[in-house]
Amino acid sequence: MSSQFYSLFEPFLEKLAEMREVDLDRMGEYVGDLCSYFGICKITVGFFQSPREEARGNGHILTCYDTGEKGVIAIRKRIVTEAMSVTDCTILRAEHHPEWDEQTRRMAELFYSVTMMAVSRSSLLQIAKRRTFFDDVGYKNLNTYINTIETYGAQGRLAGNAAVHFNLKHFSLINQQIGRERGDVVMRGFINGLESILGGEGIVCRMGGDNFTALIPLSKLGQTVDYLSGSAIAYNSFGDRVLVSSTAGILVIDENFKYKDPSNVMDRIISAAQAAKSGGAEDIVFFSAEMERRKAKIMRLQQLFPQALENGEFMIYYQPKVEIRTGRLIGAEALCRWYHEGEIIKPDDFIPTYEQSMDICKLDFYMLEHVCMDMKRWLAEGRDVVRVSVNLSRKHIMDIDLVDNIVGIIDKYGVPHKYVEIELTETTTDVEFKDLKRVVSGLQKAGIRAAVDDFGIGYSSLNLISEIPWNVIKIDKSLIPIKGESEKSPRSVMFGYVVKMAKDMGLECISEGVETQEQIDAMLENGCDLVQGFFFDKPLPLERFEERLVKGGYEK
Ligand code: C2E
Ligand code: CA
Ligand code: CA
Repeated sequence: MSSQFYSLFEPFLEKLAEMREVDLDRMGEYVGDLCSYFGICKITVGFFQSPREEARGNGHILTCYDTGEKGVIAIRKRIVTEAMSVTDCTILRAEHHPEWDEQTRRMAELFYSVTMMAVSRSSLLQIAKRRTFFDDVGYKNLNTYINTIETYGAQGRLAGNAAVHFNLKHFSLINQQIGRERGDVVMRGFINGLESILGGEGIVCRMGGDNFTALIPLSKLGQTVDYLSGSAIAYNSFGDRVLVSSTAGILVIDENFKYKDPSNVMDRIISAAQAAKSGGAEDIVFFSAEMERRKAKIMRLQQLFPQALENGEFMIYYQPKVEIRTGRLIGAEALCRWYHEGEIIKPDDFIPTYEQSMDICKLDFYMLEHVCMDMKRWLAEGRDVVRVSVNLSRKHIMDIDLVDNIVGIIDKYGVPHKYVEIELTETTTDVEFKDLKRVVSGLQKAGIRAAVDDFGIGYSSLNLISEIPWNVIKIDKSLIPIKGESEKSPRSVMFGYVVKMAKDMGLECISEGVETQEQIDAMLENGCDLVQGFFFDKPLPLERFEERLVKGGYEK
């Protein structure tokens, strides 16, 4: 009897030894003879992450062999690990088969142990593989995406596809409104909808949270863009729906695209997606050569910064501030210009870049220092000096030593504090608001004036004016009434009120960006006497501004 077992068991062991991984789908082939020898009709193995998962029956349950006959449990082993995961292996013997004697049971247990070991190893490998390519709720993950791009790239099949990175808009709000579980249903529904547009041709993967990537054939791009822009998704069986829309960055891959590795696809879709997300006009942004140039330029500008600062390539231009009624020069704003390789680069082309990296803080201190140097010289030469304002980026606002550093620079050149003004823009968050209040109060104590810059562009709140001790409100050019505009237009009305409010509160009020006589007239009508703008002068290089200082103002 036992010799018959060994003649079946040995080839089975040899076969297992040959295989790195048991082919679970073909398990029946390998164990069939042994199973019929023992009268086994079914072998199952269940892997559960916890006893709770086991009770719910939603772990990984494998059926390795099944003849479909009715059976009784002949062997059952449960292994509960310290981490509370459960492995449950059960062997059923066909009901009609005679019970095993002691020797047969021992042989069956030997067969059982070897089989279980092989199956466990294989299924753990499969689970691990699954975890590698799917996230914990079953969406394909970043690895799958990268692998797909790599495979397509290696096979030269990328051209003719579009790579997409998208983010579901306001998804936390949807979760809040309909509950997290239904939110999950909506997300699943939205992705299923997209997958059905692709009809098995592309791939959609989840990066984490509500961020996804996709690779789609160009023939489906139009439909995909429409779908991503906004689609109604049902979240219950009554057909109640919510609108899901997304912001997306898209890279169209054609024959000209030079594929190197997945990162040159990822980088592009991520920067396009960032452009879409960062509140621009478009929710769907296509990666373009222009964008690539801009990115390259930003990187180049960032690399050039330390050297440019050391070489003194940044220059101070001074834009006069004028009292309209008298034409008197009452101050100036220091504005940065970058002289680079014979070219003048305007701040809008480099300040935003430097704000991304905190380089802006070094630049602002550089500007303040050079303004103080100029003033020290003017004072020494006995000129009539006017107050100069310096712009400070919001990036400084968290710096706890900011006011001390400002005072340190001004005092280093012995410039009286009253000649320096700091321009700061509004803030967007409560935290920033507290920091802004701290900084402006600190400046106030040090006798340095503070101006709220670009007033009227953002979401200026009344708190900004009432709770922070400003000296000056600088009204942005967008709030200035334009030619031919009725006095009753919202802009005109608002402009009038802002000027009146500033005056009533004892604040200085200056309008910037004033270009025309009509605007000057509107200023006077509304009682705003101070202006800065092309009507009088553009920002001037040092020598030109010094000439203006000598003149002391403008002809009336
Ligand atoms: P800003 O602080 O609002 O500066 C005023 C801008 O308006 C200046 O542009 C100025 O040239 C422009 N402007 C003045 N009058 C007129 C006018 O009548 N019409 C028009 N259309 N524009 C006028 P600029 O010099 O190109 O500076 C742009 C921005 O760059 C500044 O806006 C400021 O936010 C930033 N910036 C410039 N220099 C510095 C700096 O040293 N530090 C920091 N943090 N930012 C700076
Ligand atoms: Ca300014
Ligand atoms: Ca401004």
